[in-house]
Amino acid sequence: MHIIVSERKSNVIRRAALLPLLALSLSLAIPVPSTAQDKVLNLYSARHYQTDEALYANFTRQTGIRINRIEAGDEPLLERLRSEGANSPADVLLLVDAARLWRAQIDGLFQPVRSRVLESRIPAHLRAKDDGKGSDWFAFSTRARVIVYNKETLRPEEVPTYESLANPGLKGKVCTRSGAHPYMLSLIGSISEHLGQPAAEEWARGVVANFARSPRGGDTDQIRAVATGECAVALTNTYYLVRLMRSTKPEDQAVVAKVGMVWPNQKGVGTHVNVSGGGVLKNAPHREAAIRFLEYLASDEAQVYLANGNNEWPVVKSATTGNAVLDSLGAFKADSLSIAAVGRAQINAARIIDRVNWR
Ligand code: FE
Repeated sequence: MHIIVSERKSNVIRRAALLPLLALSLSLAIPVPSTAQDKVLNLYSARHYQTDEALYANFTRQTGIRINRIEAGDEPLLERLRSEGANSPADVLLLVDAARLWRAQIDGLFQPVRSRVLESRIPAHLRAKDDGKGSDWFAFSTRARVIVYNKETLRPEEVPTYESLANPGLKGKVCTRSGAHPYMLSLIGSISEHLGQPAAEEWARGVVANFARSPRGGDTDQIRAVATGECAVALTNTYYLVRLMRSTKPEDQAVVAKVGMVWPNQKGVGTHVNVSGGGVLKNAPHREAAIRFLEYLASDEAQVYLANGNNEWPVVKSATTGNAVLDSLGAFKADSLSIAAVGRAQINAARIIDRVNWR
């Protein structure tokens, strides 16, 4: 578990501890304008990248709202929020992957937000379902899940689709990370949405039968295993590949030289796309500031910081990243399945990976 709490970030913890005391002292002091309480924002974020300092500093410069950050992995943050319950000081939660955003939504962690800015800038298929009160969460960047293959042992024509990974001809050649990881749950869930649960399960059984090894490691480990020839084909999120492509380390360049990439399902529904995103927490003490922050994340400027921090694409069309290496992957047809449906489909996906033992 990886938790960063810098001196500045630890403000959140101290503030939480002092909250009852603070409330008491405020009630005894001269009245404070009600907007004063909105000059701070408590952010729980599963994203932490080099561009973050500029991203957050610009928000503070524009609004005067100071940001206290708690940065940790998605699961530790969710765990923390559940244990804090109604007393949580957190205003905004940023997570990675629709599977996790949907889980947080189902756990009742978010409150719906109605915002003309967010609704006009973020496409409808990249938000949580709006049941009339607004959306619980919004996507702020996108990534695609692609096929990588060893250029010496496989031809790209052999793996044009996710479905092709189940072809018997690929026996002993396929590597994936655990099917229980949110990136896999979302992909398997999307396949289940498109093919129906029985066909998706048959497909998953076929992929498992083709494993070169038991699932282990993250996406970068799959790319490396393709490069060494341990497997001929694997799945990865685009930013892991781009990270290796942009690396100046000779060993990373050697990996990149061995590996080719396929945009899956271009003649069909398109390549599976996932998101990072976030929402306003149910018990947010600074609701107005929280909504302003989400609106800021949808600005062109913040969109570029968010996307470039992790070699992703902005969700707002007018934002351009100028990421030449990412652009070198070329244009592709993205699956237009709503990200809310992808999140929801993880229930089916979890059932499938249990039945076919994709662990
Ligand atoms: Fe990742």
